[in-house]
Amino acid sequence: MIPILQRARPDILTLRPYEHAAWKPTLERMHANEMPWRASEDATLAGLNRYPEPQPHELIEHLAALYGVTPQNVLAGRGSDEGIDLLVRTFCRAGQDSVLICPPTFGMYKVSAQIQGAKLIAVPLIKERDYALDVDAVLSACDDSVKLVFVCSPNNPTGNLVDRRAIETVCERLADTAVVVVDEAYIEFAGTESLAALLPRFHNLVVLRTLSKAYALAGTRCGAVLAHPEIVELLARVITPYSLPTQTIEAVLEFTNASHRAEARKRIELILSERERVTAQLAHLPAIRRVWHSDANFILVDCVDAEAVFNAAISVGLIVRDPRSNPLLGGCLRISVGTPGQNDRLLQAIGALTRVAGDAA
Ligand code: PMP
Repeated sequence: MIPILQRARPDILTLRPYEHAAWKPTLERMHANEMPWRASEDATLAGLNRYPEPQPHELIEHLAALYGVTPQNVLAGRGSDEGIDLLVRTFCRAGQDSVLICPPTFGMYKVSAQIQGAKLIAVPLIKERDYALDVDAVLSACDDSVKLVFVCSPNNPTGNLVDRRAIETVCERLADTAVVVVDEAYIEFAGTESLAALLPRFHNLVVLRTLSKAYALAGTRCGAVLAHPEIVELLARVITPYSLPTQTIEAVLEFTNASHRAEARKRIELILSERERVTAQLAHLPAIRRVWHSDANFILVDCVDAEAVFNAAISVGLIVRDPRSNPLLGGCLRISVGTPGQNDRLLQAIGALTRVAGDAA
């Protein structure tokens, strides 16, 4: 057993998982209490009357190739949200173990910890250094209770990539004590390599990838946990038996084939050029105090009056994310990069608002 696995919940390590109906595609199924006929107009390849293959081997091989790892490194689930939830439930005992997060960051790490009854330790990113990871503070906050450290890179909602060396240092120093979960939901927009290449070096590294963003497949709900095979095996005991729907499996295989990957690259290119254009134009608007550099498909802006900017977007039929309930983000809004037309509408609305404010002044 790799040492980091000993940090998992002891009851999960000894859990005997549910024995799902054996996957024997050459035999006709009379072992899963399914209906032997399809519903009329069921156009799926596998048939919706059948339970899907758990951790479908074709999908797993496909995701492994997509992410440059071996199939043994891959667990597929319903978005990275499920990966986060599985990690917390597998490693943290309620009321005893902790999850470390680096706010401001993606909200589900905290929510999953709270649902599990795990304690939460927050080590803020360093705003003055463009939301850099505070490596020393993370390491000194890691007492024996910390089982998981979540690092989001590029970080949601600040948009910045986290320094690779900083993450390597954290992995190195916590090698046998905590799992370092690097959430790369937006990595395809960052023009940089995934940290998944480091999996053979750090057994405590887990990388989360998703098809929701760059591949335009948020509605399929599919994400991948990339980790050491022993971690993958442990999480596979905890995941529900037939977690990925047939339509999800078939859609992911289809919409990430070679021609769709080429299409995805073109869409990403357009998002990147729009990101640069919107960033530059926002920076000139008096209603905007600061535009943070983004390595993702959204932009964090610090507004003179966030309420007014939010309402200006609404007035032209657009909604942006209002993260202001987070005390670390007072005055900020997060804007997803849209189509050129949507971006123009938003820029115009914020510009008009500025002129009204300017006229009144
Ligand atoms: N991680 C980050 C950083 C996110 O922003 C999101 C979605 N907003 C997720 C994970 C969850 O993505 P999904 O479950 O769709 O894969």
